[in-house]
Amino acid sequence: MLISSIISVVVIIANLALGMVILTNNSRKKANRVIFGIAVSSAFWVFANFMVDIAKNDTTALIWSRATLLGVIFIPAFFIYFSYVFLQEKKIGWKIFFLIFSLPFIFLPFLPTRYNIQEAQIISGEVPKVVPGTLYLYFFVYFIAYCLIAIFRFLKGIKGRPRVEKAQINYIIWGSIISLSLGIFANLILLLMGVPKASSFGPFATIVWVSALSIAILRYHLFNIKIVLAEVLVFIIGIILFIQVFTVDTFSMKIFNGSVFILFCFFGYLLIRSVLREIELQEQLAAANKELKRLDEAKTEFLSIASHQLRTPLTAIKGYVAMIQEGIYGDISDKVKVTLDKVNDSSERLIRLVNSLLDISRLEMGRMEFDFKETQVEDLIQSIVDELYVRASKKKLKLIYKEPEKDLSKITIDPQKIRLVILNLIDNAIKYTDHGNVEVKVEEKNGAQKRILITVSDTGMGISKKDMGQLFKIYRRGTGVRLFPEGSGVGLYVAKKLVEAHKGKVWAKSEGRGKGSIFYVELPINGAKIQKFLKDF
Ligand code: ADP
Repeated sequence: MLISSIISVVVIIANLALGMVILTNNSRKKANRVIFGIAVSSAFWVFANFMVDIAKNDTTALIWSRATLLGVIFIPAFFIYFSYVFLQEKKIGWKIFFLIFSLPFIFLPFLPTRYNIQEAQIISGEVPKVVPGTLYLYFFVYFIAYCLIAIFRFLKGIKGRPRVEKAQINYIIWGSIISLSLGIFANLILLLMGVPKASSFGPFATIVWVSALSIAILRYHLFNIKIVLAEVLVFIIGIILFIQVFTVDTFSMKIFNGSVFILFCFFGYLLIRSVLREIELQEQLAAANKELKRLDEAKTEFLSIASHQLRTPLTAIKGYVAMIQEGIYGDISDKVKVTLDKVNDSSERLIRLVNSLLDISRLEMGRMEFDFKETQVEDLIQSIVDELYVRASKKKLKLIYKEPEKDLSKITIDPQKIRLVILNLIDNAIKYTDHGNVEVKVEEKNGAQKRILITVSDTGMGISKKDMGQLFKIYRRGTGVRLFPEGSGVGLYVAKKLVEAHKGKVWAKSEGRGKGSIFYVELPINGAKIQKFLKDF
């Protein structure tokens, strides 16, 4: 009896407090006013039950048990009305209003009669015995039917709503289903099973409902079930501890339980605050992440536009240089020829860089197109070696190509893309080697899957352990490359992406600084074929 009284007081206060919070949040909004109505009705429901519990004589018990229904009678009507206000599907005309509220008004005159409650009897030491009248069953049906209609309306109305509204409606639906189930369980099933005073648990369920409605309306951490759960947990444990203060007999135990309750309130507050803070941080991080992604996309887009714009004038420069070199605009001296060679080299390098940047933006935007063909890879490598031979000779390096003794199996690749990869590797080997040689090798590997392994090794500057991990990352250049200004740190990144698109692997080995490096490209013979098949499929 004492425990249920304390719970009653807590539920009354909680309902009224939530009602006030909602009303003061925005008293002009109809939805807020309706929830206030529900909260006050619920509080009155619990209050009337409480009064029955503490009634001193039969008449008082009878009056209060009949008054109980006054608290509940409008709740289902409020709920349906709330569904109209919240979902705002159409304007609520007086007809709908009349239809919703006529039924509770029909019930109203029967409340003080024996149709509601026949009699109430105080039995000393026990909870009062209340005998329900015929109205009770009809009222129960009305209550359940109205609530189900409202829930159904919300279920129907959730479709096609924006994310926030969907979450709000979900809170309303789940809050209603949980509290309704609790209510039915207590007021019908337990009552029918003969559990005394089970009906007083029904009103307590309202607190779940009013809380869910309030969360939905206030949009308070709507998407964060974690914080809602933390709050509910702290609230429930708080109530249990509060009740325990009054249920112990000795004063010292009361002091002890009271202190535990106060301590818990303090730590509960800290817990909620820390969860709130964590969530706030998470939200900030998510927002920052979104902004970063947006910036990244903008960068990629810019890169693509800028590269396109750069390519045209560069090609024009190359064209004019070639025409001057060929003597179309008259004879030129050897000195000018050498200078034009340098212009040509520079624009060639710039064009390659622009092409790499374009490739990056295409890769990042997922717009890279592949044209897979069966290719004799050793021929492809031969043509690259031929192209770079002059560059290697200019640096007095030996460029050796170890061709396989017999033909390798044909491999399905995009030859232009793989050409770019190998060209980049040999070009780097020449760039980062001052003395010695650059050796290119290609071989076929058998195993679970047939593969082609291309190796480019040099006797150049080598790669330190520290640089090794960063090698294939975009815009990363090794620590020792300051001596080689021509470079941008995109070549290996693009190479890796292109090889991966062929289901292959690229990696490097080096004994360390000054000890040369070896780069490997491994391509499955049919990897791209499978890719292409899947794509076409
Ligand atoms: P870039 O050559 O334009 O700087 P890459 O992406 O092609 O960019 O290469 C990234 C880095 O990897 C280079 O800056 C260099 O430090 C290192 N690197 C690449 N190839 C070699 C090599 N053959 N020998 C030594 N270091 C290399």
